[in-house]
Amino acid sequence: MEILRIEHLSKVYGKGDTAVKALDDVSFSVDKGEFVAIIGPSGSGKSTLLHMLGGVDKPTSGKVFVDRTDMYSLDETQLAVFRRRQIGLIYQFYNLIPILTVEENIQLPLLLDQHKVDQKQFEDIVKTLNLQNRLNHLPNQLSGGQQQRVSIGRALMNQPAIILADEPTGNLDSKNGSEIIDLLKMFNKSLHQTLIMITHDERIALQADRIIAIEDGKIAKDEVIRP
Ligand code: ADP
Ligand code: ADP
Repeated sequence: MEILRIEHLSKVYGKGDTAVKALDDVSFSVDKGEFVAIIGPSGSGKSTLLHMLGGVDKPTSGKVFVDRTDMYSLDETQLAVFRRRQIGLIYQFYNLIPILTVEENIQLPLLLDQHKVDQKQFEDIVKTLNLQNRLNHLPNQLSGGQQQRVSIGRALMNQPAIILADEPTGNLDSKNGSEIIDLLKMFNKSLHQTLIMITHDERIALQADRIIAIEDGKIAKDEVIRP
């Protein structure tokens, strides 16, 4: 089943002489449960692509369908609610809210929309992420690996259609990095949680089901390695 489709997506930053075409007519679709690695040189447009998929920044032209909803046909308020519900974002530098506890950070996407927290689901996630003894801590009281596990919990709480991860291991040593990848793969396999991940690390890309290579804002290669 198709969960994501992007059609003729382009993004131009700036105007006139200084305009940069960061994405140039990119189209592809992703099935529910796929693990897609996005690779490519620095400045090729990977983060821009992820931002467009995540509803973080509007494309210049083209469409993004998440679970058949044309995301950029929504108004600002609808889009903010839609992306909290359907998109889980994981960043290299965690982006946790420093004044909120681990528990509050994980539950944030639900609380922002006044949704009730499913206590059983919350406890299951916390246990899988091994954060049960850190729930009342603040982010700066945690290691990098722990902070990234909190951001995985936050991304999963809404059972989103897609998890988007931008270099999730980029700030971690190799042991903590593999732990994060193993957790993301586990949620991908056991919950059929669709996962799209930017990575510079070839060993990580080779663990995906499919690798999309971006060069100069275009798809240079799109290869299924695990059908
Ligand atoms: P990658 O993630 O592959 O390193 P990016 O998507 O960050 O690439 O950037 C693609 C191109 O768009 C680069 O040339 C970059 O300089 C440019 N770019 C990215 N973000 C902005 C922005 N906010 N304003 C202007 N140019 C940008
Ligand atoms: P903003 O648009 O100012 O970032 P939001 O209310 O959308 O504010 O989000 C607040 C915080 O929650 C941000 O740090 C954002 O990265 C995070 N966030 C929002 N939606 C999600 C989500 N679906 N998954 C993970 N984190 C999210």
